[in-house]
Amino acid sequence: MSGKLIDPFGREITYLRLSVTEHCNLNCFYCRPEPDSNVAEMSKELLTVDEFKTIAREAVALGMTRIRLTGGEPLLRPDILSIVSALSVIDGLKDLSLTTNGIFMERMAFQLAGAGLKRVNISLDSLDEATYRRITGGGKLQDTLKGIEKALQANLTPVKINVVLLKGINDGEIRNFLELTIERDIDVRFIEFMPSVGRREQWRRHFLSLDRVNEEAGRIAPLIPLENEHGGPARYFRLKGAAGKIGLISPLSRHFCHLCNRFRVTSAGGLKPCLFSPDEVDLKPFISDRKGLKEKFREALQLKPDPGKVACNPDQRAEQFQGIRSMTQIGG
Ligand code: SAM
Repeated sequence: MSGKLIDPFGREITYLRLSVTEHCNLNCFYCRPEPDSNVAEMSKELLTVDEFKTIAREAVALGMTRIRLTGGEPLLRPDILSIVSALSVIDGLKDLSLTTNGIFMERMAFQLAGAGLKRVNISLDSLDEATYRRITGGGKLQDTLKGIEKALQANLTPVKINVVLLKGINDGEIRNFLELTIERDIDVRFIEFMPSVGRREQWRRHFLSLDRVNEEAGRIAPLIPLENEHGGPARYFRLKGAAGKIGLISPLSRHFCHLCNRFRVTSAGGLKPCLFSPDEVDLKPFISDRKGLKEKFREALQLKPDPGKVACNPDQRAEQFQGIRSMTQIGG
């Protein structure tokens, strides 16, 4: 048997997203479950630095080359620098990145870079203070903007801005976000609003296909298609003459499941083969058993869904969502 992780549909798994906490200092409605929805309980016992390291080391031994730390808000973990330091020295790991809301980046960017972090994605769904506050449940736009500047200064590049497109909330700002890439070497990535547990109604109300972004971009300047250097699901292009790039991530209107190369691990050690499925393989009892851990990774491979059965229409795709955890529990 080859050491690599190849699923029954021929997809090689090379990318691991590790959620280090379920807690977040913001309260973005699309990320959290409705209070009375049937969501899985919050995890009580989080993996330790050593446990994350063991899982990451085994994943890399099985051919994974990229790891992203996420959450909840990963920078809320008091030992986040130790996690970054522990993972950054794993032999064979080519890329270590982190997704954050950016609020703590102003004070932590240089420490994170010093610990071995390569780059960051920062979530920013609005450039308008009131809309930012509304989406995040009270966040201050200026904090995230300062965090982005600090990340650039600390060379955590390319800095990628994640914008979840929300009909009736931030769709009037598409042009402002696109124009951010003209002068600055920042990648702006638009993400389609994914259904999440207990958020069906909101999904119906606020989902918007990214075709709208394409139309708007075409009105500013000719679009130059680009390669995706990190191999993820985003389709990239550049406005002619612009410094930064634009990325489109369309899990609903143009799913990329046939290209899926990822596993996710929750902060309690649940290995998730697919964001849309309730399946989870518990790694925690196998942390001190290398062989057992490898077998669990292989077990999860068998649970990767058939990309041939994934609906191509957003409404039908949303109906296929069977997750039991909110995004803040899984890490997006
Ligand atoms: N707290 C960090 C942050 O704000 O980036 C990391 C965790 S957050 C769950 C990771 C990413 O998932 C963010 O870019 C967020 O916008 C995205 N996300 C969360 N819920 C989503 C949803 N329902 N649809 C699309 N993207 C979502």
